[in-house]
Amino acid sequence: MSNSISLLPDHIANQIAAGEVIQRPASAVKELLENAVDAQATEITLIVSDAGKSLIQVIDNGCGMNETDARMCFERHATSKIQSIEDLFQIRTMGFRGEALASIAAVAQVELKTKRQEDTTGTLLEIENSIVKKQEIIATANGTSIAMKNLFYNIPARRNFLKSNAAEMRHIIEEFTRVALSFPHIFFSFISNNLQLFHLEAGNLKQRTLQLLGNNYNSKLVAVKEETDYMNVYGFVGKPETAKKTRGDQYFLVNNRFIKSPYLNHAVNSAYQEMIAKDSFPTYVLCIEVDPAHIDINVHPTKQEIKFEDEKIIYAFVQAAVKHSLAQFSVAPALDFDLDASIQQLDAIHQPFTSEKKSTAAAGSIFKEFTEKHRAHFIEPSKKSELSNWKNLKEFDEIKSVQKISSEKKLSFISELIEDGAIVQLHNRYVLVSTVGGFILINQQAAHENIIYENLKEAAIAKPIASQKSIFPATVELTMSDAVLLSELQIDLQQMGYSIEPFGNNSFVVHGTPADVSQGNEKQVFDSILEQFKHFSPDLKFSKREKLIRSLAWQQSIKAGKILTVLEMQTLVKNLFSCTQPNVTPNGNPVYLEFKKDQLEKLFGK
Ligand code: ADP
Ligand code: MG
Repeated sequence: MSNSISLLPDHIANQIAAGEVIQRPASAVKELLENAVDAQATEITLIVSDAGKSLIQVIDNGCGMNETDARMCFERHATSKIQSIEDLFQIRTMGFRGEALASIAAVAQVELKTKRQEDTTGTLLEIENSIVKKQEIIATANGTSIAMKNLFYNIPARRNFLKSNAAEMRHIIEEFTRVALSFPHIFFSFISNNLQLFHLEAGNLKQRTLQLLGNNYNSKLVAVKEETDYMNVYGFVGKPETAKKTRGDQYFLVNNRFIKSPYLNHAVNSAYQEMIAKDSFPTYVLCIEVDPAHIDINVHPTKQEIKFEDEKIIYAFVQAAVKHSLAQFSVAPALDFDLDASIQQLDAIHQPFTSEKKSTAAAGSIFKEFTEKHRAHFIEPSKKSELSNWKNLKEFDEIKSVQKISSEKKLSFISELIEDGAIVQLHNRYVLVSTVGGFILINQQAAHENIIYENLKEAAIAKPIASQKSIFPATVELTMSDAVLLSELQIDLQQMGYSIEPFGNNSFVVHGTPADVSQGNEKQVFDSILEQFKHFSPDLKFSKREKLIRSLAWQQSIKAGKILTVLEMQTLVKNLFSCTQPNVTPNGNPVYLEFKKDQLEKLFGK
């Protein structure tokens, strides 16, 4: 009888293990950048081609390796960073598991060039399938260059799993951003397909944050800084108006390591309390410094999750630190966080925010403006709670507020509406229209969104939306990842009346906008379209175009809070009932509630 168990050859064992560490080009980017950081580099260059599918190269000016180490570093569990298990709890380096280079050598063709400052010559190594193909003594710069070509060339099944270049590129930019944000004192350069995407001069955390998240954050960040013997927290949180619909810019860096922590994220969110809408996400870059003995980084192969010895302390501390900063901002919104220390020490700024101060501030015009402003981002959730009051009435079932209307009925509805002119706006968000048969209560934003949605749907299949030429074409500067996204949408946007063209350096020129949409504020317009688009992004049901249409409909619609003239209300109602589907939004929320006369009479006991 033949035996059935055999040992896997090394290169296959390595390929399997590599699956944990290297899932996609971005994971290799992360590992190579972190190795360069660990090597004490002050300058790091990342070069990719085809979103990392054909080439990922990292060049650093760090400590380099001698000939023996150069060979050793590709062995599994080969590391210079820990020697014993105790060392695991004093980790100050990004790597320590000795797996990355072994994994990379198992799934790509690798070329290493390295030289230590103290040596006169360097080493060149070429590796394929974990086997050294070439080793030479060469002349090369101090530091290390590792190039990996044709990722997963030897595992076609995994290569096929890679996403489009644009999608992989977004992952790479995200990893690059995380590392670059964690080490602002290091110079980073990032070149993709021979084009320099980032050139990040060494600086402080604020400068690096603005380099990466965009200069428009300049006046919109609040500094956080709290220190204790146990831990320090410092960094920046966005003012409430910068809260977004997607988790976009949220960074926790624990001892310079980007981590994902829903728990700590909750701590930050809760510090914002009522200041931002429930379904929005604040922007933050928060660095936590804590003795490595109090954390365990080794809970996940990619080290993006960590365990804290005492999570509750960290939670409470982070929450308090953020609250404190936001409170300072509410009292003195005009003061920039850059102000010198003497002003920061003033009582008004330094002392905790008492409830008395809070009510004075809340009554002030600045506070009002600030909450109103952020209303623009606020999306009214379906008002189930208000309806629930009605539930106590037995007649509720008969009211059946939201009713599907057949097309004939719809027509009669319009004539009902036109016959009786009474129309009034309630709470700057609902339009009440009396009809022959009773009245209807329309959610103004939902109604307008519906109208635009149907127009754009038609534009997508039939005639494009007319575009009006901008007399002074605006230039819109975006973050790298938003720029990649916008180029993907360029053609669809054209169909919807937006004529835009890339202008280099993550900028676009806006040559034209939809004819019936007022011009101006292009930067804000595109930011919110992209933001909304990303919000829909995880939804696989919808095509790219459908997501774009929904985003535009939302962006162009009049929002709750906007005061409407009678003429505007009449036009809104007329256009709404010309829609094929006036009663529900594309997302399935009711657009209006219908109340019938006889039902009303019943409610009044008649
Ligand atoms: P780890 O980082 O967990 O130690 P890696 O497989 O990433 O494991 O790297 C193995 C070893 O190779 C490192 O411990 C380090 O000694 C060496 N090394 C890797 N990259 C570099 C680099 N860019 N410069 C100098 N040494 C490096
Ligand atoms: Mg490493």
